[in-house]
Amino acid sequence: MEIKILGTRGEIEESAPYHSKHSGILINNKLLVDCGEQSFLDYDPHYILITHLHPDHAFFVRSGCFQMIDIPIYAPKKYKELLISTRKTPFTIDGYRITPIPTIHSLKVKSVTYIIQHKNKKNLYTRDMIWIEKKYHHLLKNFDLVITEASHMRTGGLIRRHKKSGKIYGHTGVPDLVRFFKKYACTIVFVHFGAWFYKDMQAARKKFEKLAVANDIEIIVGYDGLELIV
Ligand SMILES: [Zn+2]
Ligand SMILES: [Zn+2]
Repeated sequence: MEIKILGTRGEIEESAPYHSKHSGILINNKLLVDCGEQSFLDYDPHYILITHLHPDHAFFVRSGCFQMIDIPIYAPKKYKELLISTRKTPFTIDGYRITPIPTIHSLKVKSVTYIIQHKNKKNLYTRDMIWIEKKYHHLLKNFDLVITEASHMRTGGLIRRHKKSGKIYGHTGVPDLVRFFKKYACTIVFVHFGAWFYKDMQAARKKFEKLAVANDIEIIVGYDGLELIV
């Protein structure tokens, strides 16, 4: 699979080249996972899969404009009059087997991670998340690559609890994600960087290097335009 990382900036102000665009990953020039920038449509993807309807993952939530989207779009929830397919069970598009798995992230929007299989390759595309419920863990195995988020470097991330419902929301930390996903893949790619990353990008890269050594895995620090072949 040819994977092109189009954007690696989380929901923060733009401050650095190569990490300026919001979420978007193009697979084989065909599938676009998240569309945080309208300009990603210029790549002419055939299908769009949205992990969740936060504006840094779905540009139209911020701009309100979606009329220019004329290709099939999949997301965990509908948005206004936009024709969105909300699939909960595995489905196949154009030879790609897609399995959406619910993730815990936000109180207001539903979020999913996607397993995408094509020929003999299988990758996991997660974005903002705290956790994946145990009942779905049996689906997580033997990935060639896991692509996930790096909003917070500190262990535990930033997780809040809603007073009334007791439900949690936010993002877990990079070390937690490494510990969790290393069971299922030897290589983890990080995207969706939070403010911590931009303060000292060299120090940030060192932290990823340390984590890779400590956990005996390969960590790739994504940047806007990075191309990977898996
Ligand atoms: Zn986000
Ligand atoms: Zn989000």
